[in-house]
Amino acid sequence: MVPTIGVLALQGDVREHLAALSAAGVGAVPVRRPAELAAVDGIVLPGGESTTISKLLGIFELLDPLRARIADGLPAYGSCAGMILLAGEVLDGRPDQEQLGGLDVVVRRNAFGRQVDSFETDLDMTGVGSVRAVFIRAPWVEKTGADVEVLATVPGDAAQAAGRVVAVRQGNVLATSFHPEITGDLRVHAYFADLVRSA
Ligand code: GLN
Repeated sequence: MVPTIGVLALQGDVREHLAALSAAGVGAVPVRRPAELAAVDGIVLPGGESTTISKLLGIFELLDPLRARIADGLPAYGSCAGMILLAGEVLDGRPDQEQLGGLDVVVRRNAFGRQVDSFETDLDMTGVGSVRAVFIRAPWVEKTGADVEVLATVPGDAAQAAGRVVAVRQGNVLATSFHPEITGDLRVHAYFADLVRSA
């Protein structure tokens, strides 16, 4: 059976994720309502602005249903702002910013700093291979719990941020600081689609 993966469609680069998922061979639908969330086999939380998405999750009455489904094992993939939303704890966030949970990590928002707030590099991602990673005011993972697997770090030749953790997985929850949805490389979405199929 072909799984249907939802993309949380409140703000951010929703279209790019929908296109990448479709190209990776799964059903891809936008999710704005609890009934739409209830119908998906997995969920993508796109890049955008985590504080805005957090606020909209409340307004659209998706915060509790999404938290509940993720706690229940719904496969979830967050890129950039999506990683921030999945994290148990956020540094440099807004005090009223809500967390979905699912990832036992501490992330730092806008971590790469102003000079290098957006950059690209090639890096190795476990289970995927070498990928072109595009960072746009990205977070990094500053602390990982015992059940969190580190899938990628910034390579040593990328100066300031070398060694920083930028892709993680905990069970059915996947997160990257970078944006594979804008590179045309479908392998990270294919990796998530495989995770959804085997969940
Ligand atoms: N800085 C953004 C945030 O805090 C994330 C940026 C992105 O998703 N490209 O949510």
